[in-house]
Amino acid sequence: MKLYEYKAKEVFAKYNIPVPKSVVVLEADEFKGEELDFPVVIKSQVLVGGRGKAGGIKFADDLNEARERIDVMLNSTIKGCKVKKVLVEEKLDIEKEIYIGITLDRSASAPLLLASAEGGVEIETVPEEKLFKKHITPFLGIQPFILRNLSAKLRLSKEEGKKISKIVSALYALFDREDAELVEINPLVITSQGEVIAADAKLIIDNDALFRHPEYEGLDEDLTPLEKRAKQKGIAFIQLDGDIGVIANGAGLTMATLDNLSFHGGKGGVFLDLGGTDDPEKVKEAILLMKDAEPSVILLNIFGGITKCDTVAIGVKDAIEIGKIDIPVVARIKGLNEEKAKKILRNAGIVAVDTIEQAVKEAITLGGR
Ligand code: GDP
Ligand code: MN
Repeated sequence: MKLYEYKAKEVFAKYNIPVPKSVVVLEADEFKGEELDFPVVIKSQVLVGGRGKAGGIKFADDLNEARERIDVMLNSTIKGCKVKKVLVEEKLDIEKEIYIGITLDRSASAPLLLASAEGGVEIETVPEEKLFKKHITPFLGIQPFILRNLSAKLRLSKEEGKKISKIVSALYALFDREDAELVEINPLVITSQGEVIAADAKLIIDNDALFRHPEYEGLDEDLTPLEKRAKQKGIAFIQLDGDIGVIANGAGLTMATLDNLSFHGGKGGVFLDLGGTDDPEKVKEAILLMKDAEPSVILLNIFGGITKCDTVAIGVKDAIEIGKIDIPVVARIKGLNEEKAKKILRNAGIVAVDTIEQAVKEAITLGGR
């Protein structure tokens, strides 16, 4: 789960990583200007990088200018994301911009610490020889020699080295304890007064560790109510703008179904991936969820490898009975116990066919919205 900058900075502050003084605003006149010293930076809170270049970072010298710019920003879209919140911060007097990041390098089974004296730009554009890179042994953590090497590589002064070393250690503690996949400060700013402050913050928490962090619950504020419900049930569910609801097992098969659908002129409305389950309860939940998304027709594409087609069919039948679903359902069902499955489905009034093309064409005909 990716955190918004303002949330990530709250976590940074808990670990004593210095961040600018700031307020979060949802409406321009919420900002009174008393909380901060001018000039200020107005930062759109969106979950995409490169906001600066996309117009998502503005400066203001006084209250009027700040409110004007906050208002414009709150009514704008940055790289396809609607801006709902703005972070207003005291503007830093930047002398140098540094990059610090820690990510999980799966191929090395270890966290990787990255640093560069050329911060403020995308790390991918920094030449390899200007990068400081070091894998961290999880049992040892950040050892002093690593920090000395980092300071030397980035040509930091003694004072800067001291402050940045403290921040890097804190960042590693955060990465470790918060179960992060990625934590990044870009830029870590050295001000003209010699202070070191995290001007930006990126933090991604490993979804599979979220159960250990109830404090992050409810932060997925961009999900629709149905997407939230799906998440609670462990079902991959994405709302698209078409009218045909697609349910398949496995992301690959779901994508292939959507492709086939658009090839024949149909439009996917909801993408629902059952994964490897043939648990009738979960299948039932999925169908009920699909019903509430109100597609014109439900297209089911099931391949039974380990998954048993008949138990999937039982879930579908149960859902249709309990949910009193009168949306037409077309099923292409193939694999283990397919004959049994087709019988169950046909008895429930569902069109059950053998090929994906047949199913797709039938769904388009029945949907017709
Ligand atoms: P990003 O574009 O989404 O990565 O947003 P950042 O928060 O990293 O800001 C982009 C750039 O805006 C930074 O690299 C800085 O050059 C500039 N910037 C952001 N905050 C400040 C600030 O407080 N003072 C100054 N002078 N520049 C800033
Ligand atoms: Mn940045």
